[in-house]
Amino acid sequence: MQRKKQYLKIKKETPRKREADERVIDFHPTYHLFSKEEADTQSLRCIKCPVDLLKDMSGDFSFCRTGCPLENKIPLWIEATKNGDIKKAFELSNEVSPFPEILGMVCPHDVLCQGGCTISKTESGSVSIGAIEVYLNEQAFKMGLKPDYGQNKDRTGKKVAVIGSGPAGMSCATFLLRAGVEVDMFEKSDRPGGLLTYGIPNFKIKKDVILRRFGWMQEAGMNLHLNSDIKDSQQLKNMLDEYDAIFVGLGAPSSRGARMKNEDSHGVYHVMDILKHAQKRVFEDFYESILEDKHVVVIGGGDSAMDAVRTSVRMNAKSVRCAYRRDQANMPGSQKEVINAKEEGVLFEFYTAPKEVVVDKGRHVKGMICQKTHLGEPDASGRRKLEVIEGSDFELECDVIILALGFDNVEFPWYDDAQINTGRWGDILVNEEKRTSNKRVYAGGDAVRGADLAVTAAADGRLAALSMMQDFGLTL
Ligand SMILES: Cc1cc2nc3c(=O)[nH]c(=O)nc-3n(C[C@H](O)[C@H](O)[C@H](O)COP(=O)(O)OP(=O)(O)OC[C@H]3O[C@@H](n4cnc5c(N)ncnc54)[C@H](O)[C@@H]3O)c2cc1C
Repeated sequence: MQRKKQYLKIKKETPRKREADERVIDFHPTYHLFSKEEADTQSLRCIKCPVDLLKDMSGDFSFCRTGCPLENKIPLWIEATKNGDIKKAFELSNEVSPFPEILGMVCPHDVLCQGGCTISKTESGSVSIGAIEVYLNEQAFKMGLKPDYGQNKDRTGKKVAVIGSGPAGMSCATFLLRAGVEVDMFEKSDRPGGLLTYGIPNFKIKKDVILRRFGWMQEAGMNLHLNSDIKDSQQLKNMLDEYDAIFVGLGAPSSRGARMKNEDSHGVYHVMDILKHAQKRVFEDFYESILEDKHVVVIGGGDSAMDAVRTSVRMNAKSVRCAYRRDQANMPGSQKEVINAKEEGVLFEFYTAPKEVVVDKGRHVKGMICQKTHLGEPDASGRRKLEVIEGSDFELECDVIILALGFDNVEFPWYDDAQINTGRWGDILVNEEKRTSNKRVYAGGDAVRGADLAVTAAADGRLAALSMMQDFGLTL
């Protein structure tokens, strides 16, 4: 009884932020990690609800574990943290999650575990699960603990090729290594990690945190082949001959356009061009900025749009605006990131849809014609459709436009030759075991779901690894 009241007595704390004027001049993380004192105190707020008992009940129950796509054993590792048993907390948090210290930083907790947390339904607010997760893992690493990559497991003689080193591939490789399976990973880029490395900016997740995991995986025997683009049928055929199974985690790399007139002009970029360019600063001694002194407009309202506006600020743009066709409440990304962007000086143009790029004689961007939008009458499903207001055209002056409108799948020609069936949008079709129509090829992450989240990619990779292990007659 005493314990249940702690969440009323102890105020919810979230990680402290660096001041906006301090953080806009570099790409270092926005948030401080929890201190021991903060983590210990915030852990006390968990009421340890009997999730395992209640999760099978009928009705609309949600808890931290059911809110997490990995069904992470959250209450158990929070309890261990509270008891000061970091080793136990570390082992529990790494049991089903392949990289908890990364997901603790990048997951949209408010709509996942923290959205499910029982006390999030009270005025006190949820337990700060993500921040505790990062704290306990970083604390464990400081103590010299290392994640389990099957270092002490006998090799099984089974071999799997993992194509793509994003969270889906990383996760699949993690659970296979733990089971004693040999893993060869093929990545077309010069660094591993997929969008964790080259998409999500360093101010959200530090790149050495990602690369640290790959170091451990290689130490445990994983062969990482960088600059290895798997692009033709012969390569896949050779892999099918050499390996017992293949995992495909290629992501959804095709950036959408806005279908505006003059969209191919100088000064119009896709979001990944800007983010990759900026990321170079983290890895190399590189300071060139293609946005220096520019007036930038970013089109879109999701997380990648927020990453683009915040990156533009750090690349010394003169002004940064975000044009979004709905309002703030309907933005698909995390509200936390919208607040961070506003604090950093980004201006928002809501109910604004792009129409045409205005160019000079040399086809350089001079501005963007936009139209105002509004919500129309509800349709049969009750949803209010977005409508353009005729005659509401206006111009936003700018010299750079960044398109951050989402991503589509790319259908490789070798899918067909390997009998890997795809859906209407080029997404790989899989069954509930993450097996494709070729029974020795599994797939997961954005290549299957379309653009989604790191944690869902991780959940797919884990499930594919468990299915392969079942085929091989192995256990963890
Ligand atoms: C800007 C941005 C910000 C985001 N922010 C967040 C966030 O804050 N939180 C969150 O949860 N999610 C976020 N996401 C989404 C998240 O990053 C993705 O859902 C996740 O990375 C998908 O994982 P994946 O492994 O399926 O694909 P990816 O991460 O895309 O990895 C695929 C890998 O496959 C490699 N590859 C592709 N083709 C080949 C080939 N032919 N041969 C060899 N290798 C190949 C690619 O180079 C890449 O490394 C963000 C996405 C973007 C674009």
